[in-house]
Amino acid sequence: MEFDDELYNKIKFIILKNSLDYEKARIETVLSKLISSNPNLRTDIKRIIPYLNKEIDKINSLRKEDKIELLKKMDQNYGVSKDKKNIKDGFTLPPLINAENGHVVTRFPPEPNGYPHIGHAKAAIIDEEYARHYNGKFILRFDDTNPLNEQSEYYDVILEDLNWLKIKPDIIKNTSDDITLLHKYGQELIKNNSGYICTCKPETIHKLRSSGIECECRLNSTNSLEKMDKFFNGYFHKNEAIVRFKGDMKNDNTAIRDPTLFRIIDTEHPRLGRKNVIWPTYDFAAPIEDSLDGVTHALRTKEYELRNQLYREILTALNLRIPEVLEFSRLEFEGMPVSKRKIKPLIVNKQIHSWDDPRLPTLKAFKKRGFTPEAIRKFVLSLGLTLSETKPSIEVLESFNRKIIDREAIRLFFVRDPWEITLENSTIKEILLQNHPSLEMGRRIIVVKDSVYISSVDAKNLTKGSEIRLIEFSNIIINEIDREKKELKCKITNNIINKDIPKIQWVSTENSVPYKIVKPHMLFINDDFNPNSLEIITGYAESFVSTLLTDTMVQFIREGFCRIENNNTSIFAHK
Ligand SMILES: [Zn+2]
Repeated sequence: MEFDDELYNKIKFIILKNSLDYEKARIETVLSKLISSNPNLRTDIKRIIPYLNKEIDKINSLRKEDKIELLKKMDQNYGVSKDKKNIKDGFTLPPLINAENGHVVTRFPPEPNGYPHIGHAKAAIIDEEYARHYNGKFILRFDDTNPLNEQSEYYDVILEDLNWLKIKPDIIKNTSDDITLLHKYGQELIKNNSGYICTCKPETIHKLRSSGIECECRLNSTNSLEKMDKFFNGYFHKNEAIVRFKGDMKNDNTAIRDPTLFRIIDTEHPRLGRKNVIWPTYDFAAPIEDSLDGVTHALRTKEYELRNQLYREILTALNLRIPEVLEFSRLEFEGMPVSKRKIKPLIVNKQIHSWDDPRLPTLKAFKKRGFTPEAIRKFVLSLGLTLSETKPSIEVLESFNRKIIDREAIRLFFVRDPWEITLENSTIKEILLQNHPSLEMGRRIIVVKDSVYISSVDAKNLTKGSEIRLIEFSNIIINEIDREKKELKCKITNNIINKDIPKIQWVSTENSVPYKIVKPHMLFINDDFNPNSLEIITGYAESFVSTLLTDTMVQFIREGFCRIENNNTSIFAHK
């Protein structure tokens, strides 16, 4: 059978996608997808089916990695010709499948269980970009159905950080707002025989799941309505009963082996207090909320890949609309894990200060270092919707940020581990320095009396009689060196012609303040906490720095770009 290229690619794409979502592509699903996007093929079904079957067999026999590879290649091409006319200038993400202008609804569903990190920024930015691009709606939904992890503080911080990223949700809601509705769907699932109450012990459940055996409760579940009423009326206590999905206990995808849909958690909830103890799992709440909220395109990180099948099966069992599910790779940087399991213990054990510690990948930490929301957005969009598991280099984010802050950062001198130079023939001088080498950002006056500081790195190489240039000031000749006291005596020469001599930065002792730069390094090396991950660089800076407001960006020449924290401290951003 002959197809044009676009149709051929579309068929291949649907089969690949389907076979990745469900392990094996099925003719019914592929056909319905194909026809819903190309209704005119309806009349050709008889001719298409044999071709589809052949393609499905071919693709089902591929290794998973090869399927992903193929899909990745196609994702860039697929739909481009069809949707090109919709792409506005500057929109760089691939078009969404089955997206209609004005009807796209996306959502960002964080759990309020910690501070948002760079991975959250990626999800929220991509979701919002799509909603805006298609003139649709963007929902922020707090997925708060586990009171053991959730705290009021985290709802606020998420709102604050999204606001910082300039992300404006059209709707803000909590999954816990719908708790009664979720209970109702849970009961419906049991009534239509797709779920059951399991009263096995947690150890038994675990054992049977790993060996793929159905428990007694499932086998006798057809008449479990009485148990269901007891469960939802609070008859059971913690660990005595759960609601499970009737999946497939033999499925290679263990996410389908009768997962938990509701469990009893008798803990104060930040929004509902103690009003409710029967809490749905994310596996149950997410698809139902997405479907009821009108979400058309649910973007999930690739870690949920195996649970996508469950997502669809739950909605199918409840006869609810199934959104398009799309995946993207999660974002984290080498040595900066985003996992709360790794970060929380470091805070508890006081190995790091708090969630905004500059070594962390939280948005608060990036903000503290002087990364701009614009740079984060550009960086995220530059990654696009890749499925690749490789971690991008943080240097890419840094280069986006550098381009932005380079225009506003004042250039200043800072010397580490200072040596003092006495200028033997000095008269008081006022030196006018430009705040920025190329932009008009004002000037500052430095008063030099009879001494300056230079950094030990420069001082160590100096020898008696050698000549150096103090940048923007004067040439000097070294007369005496006292390496123990870290002192030098020099003469200013009148000769200021540019010679090929070392050019050294300095700070006037008259106009200096003791200063500290806090410099983060990799938090983890391999899988271990790096005890040397926070460097405190001390030295002298120009006293002008103390007049700058918190959050001002400066560039300490030789050290790099930093954000002013207070009068005597700044936080290192990047070179
Ligand atoms: Zn059981």
